Amino acid sequence: MIVGILLGTLPPFVLGWDWSITIYRALIFLVVASPCALMAAIMPTLLSGIANGARQGILFKSGATLELMGRVKAIAFDKTGTLTIGKPKVVQIVTAEISEEVLLEVAAALESLSEHPIGIAIVQAAKEKGLQWREGLNVQAHAGQGITGEIDDQIAVVGNGIFVQKMMKSNAIELEQHCYKLEKEGKTVIWVGYDGSVLGIIAVADTVRPGASQAIAHLRHLGIRQIVMLTGDNQRTAQSIAQNLGIDLVYADLLPEDKVNVVQQLQKQYQTVAMVGDGINDAPALAQASVGIAMGVNGSDVALETADVVLMADRLEKLASAIELGRRSQVIVRQNIIFALSFVAVLVIANFVGGITLPIGVIGHEGSTVLVTLSGLRLLRNR
Ligand code: ADP
Ligand code: MG
Repeated sequence: MIVGILLGTLPPFVLGWDWSITIYRALIFLVVASPCALMAAIMPTLLSGIANGARQGILFKSGATLELMGRVKAIAFDKTGTLTIGKPKVVQIVTAEISEEVLLEVAAALESLSEHPIGIAIVQAAKEKGLQWREGLNVQAHAGQGITGEIDDQIAVVGNGIFVQKMMKSNAIELEQHCYKLEKEGKTVIWVGYDGSVLGIIAVADTVRPGASQAIAHLRHLGIRQIVMLTGDNQRTAQSIAQNLGIDLVYADLLPEDKVNVVQQLQKQYQTVAMVGDGINDAPALAQASVGIAMGVNGSDVALETADVVLMADRLEKLASAIELGRRSQVIVRQNIIFALSFVAVLVIANFVGGITLPIGVIGHEGSTVLVTLSGLRLLRNR
């Protein structure tokens, strides 16, 4: 606007132009230099990308996310429910002195109030054995650690080894050995404590999501520099599962806030970091990550709300498509911006040397806007 006013007033004094030519060229300048094509360079492209993603079951919550997705250099995966199906099953029970049934009853008394997949598995196992139990009182979930409550006025605790052994004393070395062996096999060991001592352990096993290792191989092929697994589960179990998937860096025994720290560390090293998760315990890390990605089916409400991208059918192989889409959107936006700016420059210069009329200016201006918009629509198509 300011340049337009200057162009409409100065030339008669400075360059000796007559007034009608001066005003005419100032008007053409206002038309051709207005940045419509520049505006149209970005939004239609990103919207096309979002539409394309939606058709494949990838929901991007904003255009900015789509662009960021194209810049991702490192990806952190949650284990349970993300890389694994998240429907674990009880596979073995080892008790110290009491019967398996009593152990399951204690565990089920707390877990019947839990939404955690491990809790659901334990309750399922107790039901299959036809057991009956009374729900515990004051039951509290401790994200990434376990669950506590009261049964017959005594404290009960169910959760990972560190958590349970902090609250209950364990005098069974035998249990430790069982635990070690089970964890080596990729099983998650849940400890059950009641009235001050450890009663026994329950091993649960989860299956790796079909296609997960191919999805990870594909991501590496796309040049993602770092792929890590984050989990609240223990190191041995996590390591065993990571090995099957071709992930070499594992951070285990993490509380929700530790996951945030790991993501921050990765961001220092790789700038743009994506985090893929499903649970309440992943939500803080999803928020911290440059791009938070939630599993649509398995994901908890909090994870879905916090994430920037949702994978509708929990299909991990769509991550690679999302990254490709993000990269293509960056390329097209860049092409569009260069085209739009060059076109404006050509028209402005042509106008200044007197080469165009107002109709030509309008056609050039609108034409470039239309071309840039059509170019953005290319992202609707898959290669
Ligand atoms: P992940 O990070 O792999 O999704 P979580 O952070 O949800 O896993 O849980 C980490 C660990 O905490 C589990 O492996 C389990 O040992 C323990 N845990 C968490 N919640 C429960 C629960 N309700 N019952 C028993 N154990 C639990
Ligand atoms: Mg999880």
